[in-house]
Amino acid sequence: MYDVIVVGGGIGGLSAGAILSKKGYSVLLLEKNSLPGGNCNYFEYSGIRFEFAVHQITTIGSDTGMGWFLRELGIRTEFIRINDLLDIYYPERSFRISGSFDSYLDALNRFRSCKQNREYIAFLRDVSCLVEHYDWLFSGKILSPPEMNLPFCVRGPFSLFRFLKSADMTSEQFMKRFFPAIADNEMAYFLAPYIGLPPDRSAAIMNICANSSYLSKGSYYPAGGSRALSEAFCDVIKNNGGSVLLNSEVTEVRKREGKFRVSTRGGGIYSSRALVLNAPVKYALDRIIAGGEEPDEYKRKIEKLACSLSPLRIFCIYEGDTSVFDKMGYESFMYESSSLRQYFADIMDGKYSGFSVLLPFKIDPENRQGNRVPVIITTLTKYLTDEEFEVRKESVLDRIFGILDKYAKGISSGIQIASILTPEGLKKRTNVDSGAMYGWECSPGQALFNRLKQETNIEGMFLSGHWTRPVNGISGVIRSGTACAKLVSRYLKRH
Ligand SMILES: Cc1cc2nc3c(=O)[nH]c(=O)nc-3n(C[C@H](O)[C@H](O)[C@H](O)COP(=O)(O)OP(=O)(O)OC[C@H]3O[C@@H](n4cnc5c(N)ncnc54)[C@H](O)[C@@H]3O)c2cc1C
Repeated sequence: MYDVIVVGGGIGGLSAGAILSKKGYSVLLLEKNSLPGGNCNYFEYSGIRFEFAVHQITTIGSDTGMGWFLRELGIRTEFIRINDLLDIYYPERSFRISGSFDSYLDALNRFRSCKQNREYIAFLRDVSCLVEHYDWLFSGKILSPPEMNLPFCVRGPFSLFRFLKSADMTSEQFMKRFFPAIADNEMAYFLAPYIGLPPDRSAAIMNICANSSYLSKGSYYPAGGSRALSEAFCDVIKNNGGSVLLNSEVTEVRKREGKFRVSTRGGGIYSSRALVLNAPVKYALDRIIAGGEEPDEYKRKIEKLACSLSPLRIFCIYEGDTSVFDKMGYESFMYESSSLRQYFADIMDGKYSGFSVLLPFKIDPENRQGNRVPVIITTLTKYLTDEEFEVRKESVLDRIFGILDKYAKGISSGIQIASILTPEGLKKRTNVDSGAMYGWECSPGQALFNRLKQETNIEGMFLSGHWTRPVNGISGVIRSGTACAKLVSRYLKRH
């Protein structure tokens, strides 16, 4: 009998499991794949490493907040700071945002110069300070308190008011209300493809938090790839007496007489006092949670939530003169038109008129084979089965490579496709059927603290993952794991 069984070894399950085992609880983590990490892992093709998902993690390498937290947990993974973070290409001009407020101010001004640009930057700085305070309080005040500077003391209450107001607004509504002069500046929403919705539908709080965390403490990549981070979490579980079983797909969970009985494909049966679900909740309620307390009402509530778009990832190897990439940053968003609305409308029509191009070797120079380098192209898409994608594959690729060639002449002729990760492929890997990119859509009603709570209607069962609060993305999911572990610990003390 374990204190806790964790179903799923994505970052959500690993972080909750690691904290709970460090607290002294007996933990068993069951993961269906042969490697831990879920989306936080990579595959190799022809000696080159390709990340399934992760290419940058905000704030994680800094010495406050998340970085501090990982070290406290005993995670020693090294992180590479990413400097030339993001280029944005429109037909008439391009912008670089280097992971600092100054470069962002420059991009805002170059798009459209106005006085409010500075005000907006000051607001984002305050938000990053507010988040640091939140982390500080959240850490049980073990972290030293964030620095208070005079401008923050003066502006802080106004910024807090605006930040709280943003919770129920779309990004566009928020900008129109508080920063009207820049409401139609595309740079104000430069991370829209990360959020997965256009400004008139995305949650303002997501846009604000993404912008401020991206710009305040920079972005990082785990040295050696994201597997190093996932394995470091596994080590914490094991070093504290817990177990991690890979190739262990959970097929049924039953709750009887206050205990969870968990069965895996292959015949394993385990029991525990509490259960952490990192396998996506919708999938789990449909397929593996059986008997015991009736989850129907809960199921219906979850079914009403809108799912996010999915990514479509094209993993390529470029062979040839790599100086063609010299001017490009680590990641480039390339758009056929200068309108985010158009970009999202095209996605809904299956046209893919924009995408991101990642150049992993720019931050990890060893991840190449001579003049053969990895290039990853990612676009958002409505869910497509593999069969549906196959029918449209040629036209999708023609369109994407056509746009790529406009911005980076001749690159596509040196490119060979190594593999394509379709929405169905992503779903098969992790069982995420609520939109492989973010879980639930990041609209005002279901973003950040409006996402699913960690507590469920089944007593003793808790959630940890990117479809829960606070949010998706590795840092957000680790926060979800931390919040989940706190609740589980409280529950175990009571029962
Ligand atoms: C293409 C793409 C790019 C991304 N880029 C970034 C990025 O650059 N930076 C960033 O911070 N975030 C990024 N993200 C988001 C980030 O990867 C995710 O938010 C995060 O990895 C989700 O972790 P999770 O634990 O919630 O879920 P998952 O990683 O989906 O983990 C769920 C786990 O549960 C397991 N599981 C499912 N069913 C069962 C079962 N029945 N039995 C046992 N195990 C089961 C799965 O195998 C999986 O390991 C990206 C996501 C995608 C898809």
